[in-house]
Amino acid sequence: MPARGFYVTTPIYYISGTPHIGHAYSSVAVDIIARTARAHGPARSLTGTDEHGQKVAQAAEAAGATPQAYVDALAPRWRELQIAYDTRFDDFIRTTEPRHARASLALFERMRANGDVYESVYEGWYCTNDETFWPESKLIDGRCPNPECRRPVEWLSERNWFFRLSAYRDRLLELFRTDPDFLRPQSRYNEMMAVLEGGLDDLSISRSSFDWGIPLPGGGVLYVWFDALINYISALGWPDDPDGRFATFWPGVHVIGKEIARFHTLIWPAMLWSAGLEPPARVFAHGWILAEGEKMSKSLGNVIEPFALAERFGADAVRYFLFREAPFGTDFSISREKLRQRLNSDLGNDLGNLLRRSLAMLDRYRDGLVPEPTAGSIAEGVSDLPARVRDHVLAMRLREGLDEIWNLVTTLNRSIDERKPWELAKAGRGDELDAVLYDLCEGLRWLSILLFPYMPSKATEMWRQLGLSGTPEVRWPDELTWGRLAAGTQTDPGLPLFPRLEPEPDETEA
Ligand SMILES: [Zn+2]
Repeated sequence: MPARGFYVTTPIYYISGTPHIGHAYSSVAVDIIARTARAHGPARSLTGTDEHGQKVAQAAEAAGATPQAYVDALAPRWRELQIAYDTRFDDFIRTTEPRHARASLALFERMRANGDVYESVYEGWYCTNDETFWPESKLIDGRCPNPECRRPVEWLSERNWFFRLSAYRDRLLELFRTDPDFLRPQSRYNEMMAVLEGGLDDLSISRSSFDWGIPLPGGGVLYVWFDALINYISALGWPDDPDGRFATFWPGVHVIGKEIARFHTLIWPAMLWSAGLEPPARVFAHGWILAEGEKMSKSLGNVIEPFALAERFGADAVRYFLFREAPFGTDFSISREKLRQRLNSDLGNDLGNLLRRSLAMLDRYRDGLVPEPTAGSIAEGVSDLPARVRDHVLAMRLREGLDEIWNLVTTLNRSIDERKPWELAKAGRGDELDAVLYDLCEGLRWLSILLFPYMPSKATEMWRQLGLSGTPEVRWPDELTWGRLAAGTQTDPGLPLFPRLEPEPDETEA
């Protein structure tokens, strides 16, 4: 953990798209990382919406609205996604905000002052859907080569501003070679190295045939991709930095989908260097969520709708599933049946029953009061657990963090089976009984603190049932010391954490 602030961002979401499970995945990942970072020091998280471009202008026109009215009507849907998945961001930026336009123009001007921006005529093929220029050689039957798109392209001839990206190739190569962690996972790193080795072309960074974007002095607007990337620093108050946020939190860490790695790891660092700023500290490009091995698409009818999913299983169970099912970074398959099984087994049987059994025994044998602390066998095994979880999560190893936490769940369940509190009670071995019961309660307190970033609402409910005041959102170095749970705490058992879910018709495997 650096002494300075920790800053982590999602990509900004394209405003007129439909929120899908992949957006929830990016947002929850960043939320888990940010909550873990906040437990150790100053941290900020950011999400937002990408609202410019020709495609938005055309959609607004088709809807009979001005572009601004059109994006204003769509923005709330993206905030609802954050509510549905219980993600808490320090800031939500929209690229149509004045603070973003100011920063974007300032960056452009600095790059121009440094001689990296020049005017030229762009002639070539453009796909409006992808807001991308394509060389003639890449077109497939005269259409956009993106396999997800394949729409007709249009011939453009515009006088535009260009960024001398080609001049930054050597510096990018050096960044990639000296800091192999700059882009993770390894597969994405290899991909971008191959692009770099092949050389970089200069990039058109403005458009002049339509006006839905950040207007440039002298005409035209910034290319939507160029302005979108700047959101990460405009949200920190750059360039004026009135609150010192930029100075404290930049450079940050970007979590993105793998399809936009090129923009974030080749173009964005070069833009920042050109303006005299530091590149991001790290970029993590995660994989895609598939439906039974296939990419989700409307035409296949296999789209898993994120709002319905959170409603059916609860936000916390879905959050858990997304990061338990596969290593963060790889593609993986999701299905309602798999989710239901994990909810019933990992969450219901392992975790929920641990809480229920522990509090029931405490109720039966000690009237629900936590006994005196003891230095039991469990204390020795867990002292470096919080540091291990923290290191995994801040290095984006989100499944490994969860695996570590689950070792404590397993240890506590095993201690019930091995130490058999009911036999200790029958035999009148009160000290030993107290020791087991204390270990269980203290272990559960640890679990609620460690699980809070992954499952904020269930962790808070555990905390409440343990009879603790406040929430498990606490500083780990202060609170994760074995024995802090006070004797005499009156526990308050409640409803099961994860009630068993019976399958619905579409959740039964054929
Ligand atoms: Zn396209």
